[in-house]
Amino acid sequence: MPLPAEVDAVVVGAGPNGLVGANRLADAGWDVLLVEAQPEVGGAVRSDREVDPAFVSDTFSAFYPMAAVSPAITSLGLERFGLEWSHAPAVLGHPRRDGSWALLHHDEDVTAGLLDAAHPGDGEAWHELVGRWRIVQPGLIGSLLTPIPPVRSGVRFLTELARVGGLGFVRELLVPAAHLAERRFGGDGPSLLVAGNACHADIPLDAAGSGFIGLLLTMLGQTVGFPAPTGGAQALSEALRARFEAAGGTVATSTPVTGIRVAGGRAVAVQTADGEVRVRRSVLADVGAEQLFGGLVDAADLPARTTRKMDGFRRDPATFKVDYALDGPVPWAGTPAYAPGTVHIADSVPAMSAYSNQLDSGFVPADPYVLVGQMTTTDPSRSPAGTESLWAYTHVPQEVRGDAGDDGLTGSWDTSEAERFADRLQARIEAFAPGFGSRVRSRRILTPADLEHRDANLVGGSLNGGSSAVDQQLVFRPFAGTGRSETPVRGLYLASASAHPGGSVHGACGMNAARAALWWDRLRLSR
Ligand SMILES: Cc1cc2nc3c(=O)[nH]c(=O)nc-3n(C[C@H](O)[C@H](O)[C@H](O)COP(=O)(O)OP(=O)(O)OC[C@H]3O[C@@H](n4cnc5c(N)ncnc54)[C@H](O)[C@@H]3O)c2cc1C
Repeated sequence: MPLPAEVDAVVVGAGPNGLVGANRLADAGWDVLLVEAQPEVGGAVRSDREVDPAFVSDTFSAFYPMAAVSPAITSLGLERFGLEWSHAPAVLGHPRRDGSWALLHHDEDVTAGLLDAAHPGDGEAWHELVGRWRIVQPGLIGSLLTPIPPVRSGVRFLTELARVGGLGFVRELLVPAAHLAERRFGGDGPSLLVAGNACHADIPLDAAGSGFIGLLLTMLGQTVGFPAPTGGAQALSEALRARFEAAGGTVATSTPVTGIRVAGGRAVAVQTADGEVRVRRSVLADVGAEQLFGGLVDAADLPARTTRKMDGFRRDPATFKVDYALDGPVPWAGTPAYAPGTVHIADSVPAMSAYSNQLDSGFVPADPYVLVGQMTTTDPSRSPAGTESLWAYTHVPQEVRGDAGDDGLTGSWDTSEAERFADRLQARIEAFAPGFGSRVRSRRILTPADLEHRDANLVGGSLNGGSSAVDQQLVFRPFAGTGRSETPVRGLYLASASAHPGGSVHGACGMNAARAALWWDRLRLSR
């Protein structure tokens, strides 16, 4: 498709943030071009049939609790563009070696009943915790997802906070994930659920901040579930694309952007191998901070302080993923009372701490914590009846200093290393599901480099656009500054997960960038 010579705005990158930002600008009547390097839109929200033609595999992400509560996505009415959500019988499960499970069910009463059966009294404690969370969730989510400072939602959150114990509740949120739930519960179920969810981010389980992430995901699981788009993750991206095109937007795929031209301190054009597109108003960059400030914008067009601050930018750990087509369901050692969509595999909370500490200190984990998605259990349309489309992933260091296991892995992730580490990961599943290997019809390994090859934002296999550690959050994201999408170049906005509020599919980074572009344009200051 020939590119237009000039538009109001170019959005670089069609991940969820780029798609949301593009929709917002098109809604405002702007003439918007969305340029994507890959042949498909979606970024890390895509599906394919490479593992087996009869199976839909979510290539990257799969479950979207943040999308379910994020106004940036819920306000778009994507159901009108074909989006439907599927839910597994249970949201989340953590199997134990003895065949029992810690389970999170959509119905709070059912979760509480299961916890109480495992340890009398835990059911009531669960209701008490969820009850308090429901009070603060709207203000908290609003504050997290809106630009800094979150004035309106911040006031709402403070009011809600006062109703649930004020600073006492805040202090509880700061307790590391390894210890957060043990204070309230006698059984290990809630601790396993919270610590397992904390492992989705890269904060060590004995550090402050991990408990907040773990509790946030656990409580979202209880209040909205972990929904997955019916038909595959791609369905969410296609709905965003269809809505954008219906609003008059144009999409160019298979078109990597090679540079952003700056004149007089302002972004004036976007460069591709097919030529240059001039912009009248703004460029939204749904690309990683490393790429934006490390090449797409010429260093000569950036203040020296930006380059200096980017030196301190830290990636989140690399991801190592295996996708499976299974001939039958996973043969778990014990059948869960309700089949979960998401499964966390780890022997115990201390085992998860050991994993996160090995990862944090540069070692390939000996017994990796494994995050598993039972996608056909969640959405029967993903594969033929009686089979399971499954994925499993864990994290490995960006820079490998050694192997805490005994395979001598170096982090080259060549074919031999990739196969051996995939076997280690699979052995973890097998330990909780004897006979798992015999159900494998085919598997696909995605090393950190494979992931980056399919989405340039996944630098070194990182999945959150930069570390989620507290020193790289809020006004420190992507580096110390305002925590907003504005960049030192006028008319250029950082719209990816490298911006506040970071990774996960909520579209807020894209929405915040679009709002900033519209705001400055309205003021005619072209910031
Ligand atoms: C394996 C994996 C599992 C995950 N699981 C979940 C999950 O279950 N739930 C959840 O909420 N989140 C999950 N995440 C995180 C989530 O997918 C990301 O945080 C989210 O996709 C970030 O959106 P984004 O739009 O900022 O970037 P991306 O989704 O990465 O999209 C960026 C887009 O920009 C394009 N691009 C980059 N450079 C250029 C260029 N120069 N020119 C043109 N195009 C360019 C890329 O090709 C890509 O399409 C997961 C991520 C991974 C990798």
